[in-house]
Amino acid sequence: MKGKIKMNIPLVEMDGDEMTRIIWKMIKEILINPYIELKTEYYDLSLKNRDATDDQVTIDAANAIKKYGVGVKCATITPNAQRMEEYKLKKMWKSPNGTIRAILDGTVFRTPILVDNIKPLIKTWEKPITIARHAYGDIYKDIEYRVEASAKSELVTTYKNGEIVKQTIYEFDRPGIILGMYNLDSSIESFARSCFNYALDTKQNLWFATKDTVSKTYDRRFKDIFQKIFENEYKDKFKNSGIDYFYTLIDDAVARIVRSNGGMVWACKNYDGDVMSDMVATAFGSLAMMTSVLVSPDGNYEFEAAHGTVTRHYYKYLKGEETSTNPMATIFAWTGALKKRGELDDIHTLIEYANALERASIKTVEEGTLTKDLAALSDIPNKNVVNTEKFLLKIKENLNSILKNK
Ligand code: NAP
Ligand code: MG
Repeated sequence: MKGKIKMNIPLVEMDGDEMTRIIWKMIKEILINPYIELKTEYYDLSLKNRDATDDQVTIDAANAIKKYGVGVKCATITPNAQRMEEYKLKKMWKSPNGTIRAILDGTVFRTPILVDNIKPLIKTWEKPITIARHAYGDIYKDIEYRVEASAKSELVTTYKNGEIVKQTIYEFDRPGIILGMYNLDSSIESFARSCFNYALDTKQNLWFATKDTVSKTYDRRFKDIFQKIFENEYKDKFKNSGIDYFYTLIDDAVARIVRSNGGMVWACKNYDGDVMSDMVATAFGSLAMMTSVLVSPDGNYEFEAAHGTVTRHYYKYLKGEETSTNPMATIFAWTGALKKRGELDDIHTLIEYANALERASIKTVEEGTLTKDLAALSDIPNKNVVNTEKFLLKIKENLNSILKNK
């Protein structure tokens, strides 16, 4: 490689908190800045700065992703009561990921990074399984309460024109519980388009499942919207790419996924995605090896690691103790973003560099240089367990040799 790679349009860079903020800086210094004349528009999403800007910085960052099309985000603290105290916050600010997702109207796709010496718990899985969760509505926005005694519970909808639709849910003759939930056609449509686009982007089959045999109107609506959008907008594109759209019942999907070789995008309703993403992540090994990308229906991308700020390691780091935090998912957030920027701007060298960095990272683990969390999962005999910095330096060594052999 001669000279540093130049970029055209900036990446939206969102810095974060705690241990991941430390790793963020190290990745840039060791693995990115020596190779790329990095052009970013920088937003400091640390909790301290979100508080100082009344969270305006998060909104600005999301709008910048809309403007430029690609962002990369470091993990951030979602404040709770304890963080209010720790950081002396003005307000319990909302989750930045939630705010960004609401502005971009996006879907989150989570994909594990596979390496040879860490085998998934499910032996048939050879390729990654990407889960897409419809993170809107259903029980996450429900109304529910306890019915204390005998009562008639009804579902009532009053239209603007005064028309009323009413159905009895249940006539209680003893105490019980009840809930009401909703979703929107527009949200399901956005979700469907994000999923179809992502499947095309990554050339993988798309699976979708609901329980429409039981939920004959609610879940049926999800099924129908996916089917209609597929027929009208994606059928030909899928055919040309040699991929399929496959719909089945959720219980059948679970059974088939477990028996599969992987390699698909699995679109899940909100609750299914919540549950299944933890199952898939655990079976593939570790949260530290899980990447995540938010894709909006109109084609904006935000890349990040699926894990949090790794607070426990950060407190050790502050005490001057050595930490061995795994930077893989954060590195892959950067490579994902740089690759996407390269594709959009037609900068081939940027794509090549990002691919080389991914290969160097995987090679490092496969050769046995591991962070502590990976050492516990790997079955190879000669493990070289190192701290984060040594791990990154080993990746750099491998990266240099890959780039030299080009
Ligand atoms: P976490 O940061 O994901 O860490 C949970 C535990 O998982 C760690 O203590 C560590 O286990 C292990 N782990 C996670 N990532 C690792 C890595 N890269 N390398 C090695 N081990 C790793 O979750 P949390 O402790 O529940 O949350 C901490 C903070 O992160 C919270 O303030 C939360 O709001 C925030 N969070 C942010 C995001 C986001 O920005 N997307 C997502 C989730 C959570 P051991 O301690 O056993 O080594
Ligand atoms: Mg969950």
